[in-house]
Amino acid sequence: MNSTATPIKITKPVPVFKETKQENGIGKKMKALVYHGAGKKLWEEKPKPVVQNDTDAIVKIIKTTICGTDLHILKGDLPAVTEGRILGHEGVGIVEETGSAVTDFKKGDHVIISCVTSCGKCVYCKRGMYSHCVNGGWILGHLIDGTQAEYVRIPYADNSLYHIPDRSDEEALVMLSDILPTGFECGVLNGKVQPGNTVAIVGSGPIGLAALLTAQFYSPAEIIMIDPDDNRLETAKQFGATQTINNSKKNAIERVKELTDGIGVDTAIEAVGIPATFGLCQSLVAPGGVIANIGVHGKSVELHLETLWSQNIAITTRLVDTVTTSMLLKTVQSKKLDPKLLITHRFKLSDIIKAYDVFQHAAKEKALKVILTND
Ligand SMILES: [Zn+2]
Ligand SMILES: [Zn+2]
Repeated sequence: MNSTATPIKITKPVPVFKETKQENGIGKKMKALVYHGAGKKLWEEKPKPVVQNDTDAIVKIIKTTICGTDLHILKGDLPAVTEGRILGHEGVGIVEETGSAVTDFKKGDHVIISCVTSCGKCVYCKRGMYSHCVNGGWILGHLIDGTQAEYVRIPYADNSLYHIPDRSDEEALVMLSDILPTGFECGVLNGKVQPGNTVAIVGSGPIGLAALLTAQFYSPAEIIMIDPDDNRLETAKQFGATQTINNSKKNAIERVKELTDGIGVDTAIEAVGIPATFGLCQSLVAPGGVIANIGVHGKSVELHLETLWSQNIAITTRLVDTVTTSMLLKTVQSKKLDPKLLITHRFKLSDIIKAYDVFQHAAKEKALKVILTND
């Protein structure tokens, strides 16, 4: 995935989220990264959020990060994001205040903020499809104010926050807000990665690398990373890729066929979100295989049913549900997974404009994830 690829996208009509009480809060101020229309963002003063509903928590941000999705928003690609919105949907923090109905969290608790807010009660939440929660889903930094701020209001805190165990590396846990569950759920689980199978991951950005890290839970025989950036492929090798292909220099289809006895891969994971990369996955998948899409697509893609109709393949799509966050947290705690590998740059939260500049030029800066610390 390149730096503009992005893991989450809203696909349903969105409810309106009123934030009227924020204006009559206790009058305290904070600093936040605010969207002011396409191409415009400012680090500026905003009212400190207050509890609006009894299921809310106010969280003081300790560390946050920037996502490819935020770059999409800044391009003006997501019109649901209105002027004045605080961006960001990832981070760890300390609970500052809770509404009267919050029972599992209290002031002082260290928490992971999930990029997906879920009520736990609606028809989709009951099915584990938190991303389609009728009262939430991806709303942070999208339909309500987000985490690139000194404080954030988290609705349905009991279901949308995760306790951080004592003595954890909190910086690494920022990767559990979005990219690790996204790579794992949308790529690895949907892609049905199995022991001994062959996997190709198209796109070696943070999300492709998150899929690469978590695919290894299942011991596939081959994980082939495909990307036009040699630096990212080098990183992929260090993260456990068995083969890498620079598709700006080599024919990726021919090379994958060579590596797989001419049949292609059992799982082709799309981690970019453009027609060419989805097209490539259609050429790489073996009979009986799965194309697991992660990328956010802004344009329609060609579906080659004239060749695929008889190939017993499946194509999957998914918005991350974050139902694996607790499991992934255990794998990080037991050192089966080291998400810290994904962090390349660190800034103070107040230097977020500089951090955006680096993240926007990810290839030149050799950037994967940037960590912003509020101190
Ligand atoms: Zn994200
Ligand atoms: Zn729900």
